[in-house]
Amino acid sequence: MARHRNVRGYNYDDDFDDDDLYGQSVEDDYCISPATAAQFIYSKRDRHSSFTEPLEEEEEGATEDDDKSKASCTALSSVDQARLYSCLDQMREVLGESVPEQIMIDAVLQCGFDVAKALDLVFKQDSDTSRKPVTQDASSAARLGKDKARELPSPDTHIVPKIAKLTVSGNKQTMGFAVPSSAPSELNGQSVTATTRGQAMDDAMEENDNSVQMPTTLNTSQISEDLNSTPSQGKSFSRSKQKINVKEELEKRQGGKQLLNLVVIGHVDAGKSTLMGHLLYLLGHVNKRTMHKYEQESKKAGKASFAYAWVLDETGEERQRGVTMDVGMTKFETKTKVITLMDAPGHKDFIPNMITGAAKADVAILVVDASRGEFEAGFEAGGQTREHALLVRSLGVTQLAVVVNKMDQVNWQEERFGEVTNKLGHFLKQAGFKDTDVYYIPTSGLSGENMVKKSEISELTSWYKGPCLVDQIDTFKAPQRSVEKPFRLCASDVFKDQGSGFCVTGKIEAGYVQSGERLLVMPPNETCTVKGITLHDEAVDWAAAGDHVSLTLTGVDIIKINVGFVFCSPSEPIRACTRFRARVLIFNFDVPITQGFPVIIHYQTVSEPATIRKLISVLHKSTGEVVKKKPKCLTKGMNAIIELQTQRPVALELYKDLKELGRFMLRYSGSSIAAGVVTEIK
Ligand code: GDP
Repeated sequence: MARHRNVRGYNYDDDFDDDDLYGQSVEDDYCISPATAAQFIYSKRDRHSSFTEPLEEEEEGATEDDDKSKASCTALSSVDQARLYSCLDQMREVLGESVPEQIMIDAVLQCGFDVAKALDLVFKQDSDTSRKPVTQDASSAARLGKDKARELPSPDTHIVPKIAKLTVSGNKQTMGFAVPSSAPSELNGQSVTATTRGQAMDDAMEENDNSVQMPTTLNTSQISEDLNSTPSQGKSFSRSKQKINVKEELEKRQGGKQLLNLVVIGHVDAGKSTLMGHLLYLLGHVNKRTMHKYEQESKKAGKASFAYAWVLDETGEERQRGVTMDVGMTKFETKTKVITLMDAPGHKDFIPNMITGAAKADVAILVVDASRGEFEAGFEAGGQTREHALLVRSLGVTQLAVVVNKMDQVNWQEERFGEVTNKLGHFLKQAGFKDTDVYYIPTSGLSGENMVKKSEISELTSWYKGPCLVDQIDTFKAPQRSVEKPFRLCASDVFKDQGSGFCVTGKIEAGYVQSGERLLVMPPNETCTVKGITLHDEAVDWAAAGDHVSLTLTGVDIIKINVGFVFCSPSEPIRACTRFRARVLIFNFDVPITQGFPVIIHYQTVSEPATIRKLISVLHKSTGEVVKKKPKCLTKGMNAIIELQTQRPVALELYKDLKELGRFMLRYSGSSIAAGVVTEIK
């Protein structure tokens, strides 16, 4: 509670003079091209049983052959094993059970997981062995296979060009495109990683067609070593291929629409979840049947009014308590934008979660409850309205739509709307928002009024001529994406998926990533390989700054990876440190901050205990000049340079290099006490 009292009545005017400290304004952005839309190559493979039911036959008979194949399989890394199984499955589609396992394995390994080439090799061996058979079985089987293959379409005809355009509505449209017919990436059943690696390998092979000259008995460890080094080849290969095109591809991907990350903030019970749930419903993102189900379920649970909120509040506990705890994430579209919506929890217990959401946001919707007494409760009596607004501003959000919600409760009165907006306007200006970047929209989240189309309620239309909520969101300026900077992604979730490897989700803060690429994880300084990329539930070959993605990774143990770790490009790694200097602004906090003061640093998904190691200097609020060196303590409203010491290493950027990973919040005992930007990494 203390922090809300502290926030109240504090004059923020001076503190936000320095615009630069408080995040980027969209006009002065330093990044590159406008965020955009793009076509992407959809290479999700039909992962039929190959991964889940590998080589059932192996278990049945413990023949020598099986032992051999097991041995060659186990010598491979788990990724290569998966690729091998996948290739075997495809080969079996052509050959049936006619060719012994080991012959197929040898062929696959020999041809670097290229199914087409492996099949050729098997057929070639077959014609050789028909003259001098290896075993009776094998030769007849191979012949059989060959016959079968004649009936079946040739391996090449299995090549189904799979390019999909992610339409702005998130549906994919497949469309044909010219691909080299032998590209292994186009074969069904291969994993995404296999695609890129395979492509690189295929290209390498085409240049120097040595696949046939390869010795038949290749050392498997040699192969896997070879393959392990392939991603870097693949990376540089595809990197150079994509480098020119990433901006252009992004442009195409969403049909010219710009990406915008939107966070919804506000006091608990202001109606955030209801508003956004209803908005999604009205935009057609929730079908009638599901909505009906939510209505029935919420009625049964005695919370009928929460039906729309249930669209976003997914966990049982959230529904039970009727509060949002985690940051829900959904996608929707306006005329010119593709919006990733984050519904941040309003409850004060979940402010760290809210920071995580806000750190990813470009713009925010602040929802306030227009009802008498309720707005005041949220704004004044220890509510989160002020704290949330301050937090998002400190985390770099400059544009804000204030939704004056539950206007139905006050009969759409103009006076009440004016009262609320006046109070808020004054505060938001102090908090550093420009008047021209704040927009006020009266709505009713429950009835859906003035949300996706202009309201026709006469009580409202008589005095409100502005846009509805969706039109307002559409007019937000989209920030430019740092696509040309080195790749950075801060993990917001780490989990095990069904296949080999594991998944990491997060927003790409800078640069871009491709399947098959090797990444460095900081601070643990581990490397891993990107096996697959998922963007809005679709497998893609690459993703760029601004995208919320899920990366499937291999080559590193999941237990070494934590939320808050930063994935970066190994050639341009992010620095990890335990000591850094920062320029901070102390919020309205009554306790003087001295050397040794314990704090929690929050940025992105990181929340790390730290102490204030040194108080270097106090700065003039507007000029930034040093007004006092080595101060004894810092008090509210001060601008200062301090040195922070974390217990464990953290991966950070200088604010001037990458704002998203260079600004943070300091919290103490559940209160936000300061915002800061990194000026020097020790
Ligand atoms: P959140 O905590 O901000 O996400 O708020 P919820 O969306 O959970 O809503 C809290 C309560 O306010 C629920 O009972 C909603 O039905 C109610 N509510 C939300 N929007 C409106 C509105 O526009 N009008 C009215 N009358 N009630 C609303």
